[in-house]
Amino acid sequence: MQKRIARWLGAATLAASALGAQAQDIKMYVFSSGALTIGKGILQNLAPTDDKIITDPSYWGGAFNALKPVNTPDIAIDAQLAKIGVKPDDVKYVVPSHLHLDHGGNVAKFPNSTIVVQKSEIQNAFWPEPSTGGPYILGDVLPLRAAGSNYPNAVKMIQLNGDLDLFGDGTIIIKRWVAHTPGSQMMTVKLKNSGLTILTGDNVYFRENVEKSLPPNIVLAYDPAGFFKAYEWIRHMMATEKADFFTAHDPDAFKAMKKPPAYYD
Ligand SMILES: [Zn+2]
Repeated sequence: MQKRIARWLGAATLAASALGAQAQDIKMYVFSSGALTIGKGILQNLAPTDDKIITDPSYWGGAFNALKPVNTPDIAIDAQLAKIGVKPDDVKYVVPSHLHLDHGGNVAKFPNSTIVVQKSEIQNAFWPEPSTGGPYILGDVLPLRAAGSNYPNAVKMIQLNGDLDLFGDGTIIIKRWVAHTPGSQMMTVKLKNSGLTILTGDNVYFRENVEKSLPPNIVLAYDPAGFFKAYEWIRHMMATEKADFFTAHDPDAFKAMKKPPAYYD
C-alpha cells in the first residue's frame, strides 16, 4: 500500500525553531516542504525534499521515481516560510537533522544563516562511507564549500563533534546522535506551554518505533544500535521530563500537528 509520508524536519523546520527568539518566547512552527509517496515498509526502512526538484525532477536521479515526492511550487522553503512572514535571510541558524536529499537539500537557500551540522555528516555527504552514498546529492552541499581556499567554509558554519546548547540557556539543545547517518543530530526544544519537545529527524520514523522498539529498515541504519539507544532515551525523557517527540515521516502524526499560522509555544 502506498502511503503519503509527510516530511517536515529538514532545513526548513528546524530553522524555524531558531528564528533568533528569546528563551521565554520560543515559537515552534511545523512546515511541510513536501511528502514522499512510498510504502511504510520502506521506512520501517526511505524518505524527500529539495526545491530544485520543482523545476527539474531529474535532479534527484532515480530517487525521484522511487520516492515520488510532492514537488508542487508551494512546497518551496521560501513559500513555506512566507506563511509566517519570514524570509530565508531572516533565519539566524539552520540545523539540518542530517544532509540526505530530503532533509538537507535546501541548505544553499540560506547563504546568510549559520549552518549547524556535525562534522562527520559534512564529511559523509562529500565522501560517503561504502553503501551510504545514495541519499546524498553532491550539488546540495557543494555550495557550502569554498573551493580553492585554505578555509573550507563558503558560508557561516558551526561544525560539531557533539552536542550544543544553541543559545546557552537550555532552550534549544542539539544532540549528536549517530544512528540513521554518521552525523545525525536530534534537538530538544524547551517550550513554555508545550513542554520539552524532541525533534528526532530520521532517527525515529513512527511513534510505534519508540513505543515498541521497532527497528528501521536496515538499509537506512548506519548504526542500528544507535536507533535503539535513541528510543530508550526518548522513553526516559517522556517518563522523567514529560517530554514529547516529533518525527519527520509519519503522515498521521503530521496530520495531527498544528500548522502555520498556528504554532507550539
Ligand atoms: Zn535520511
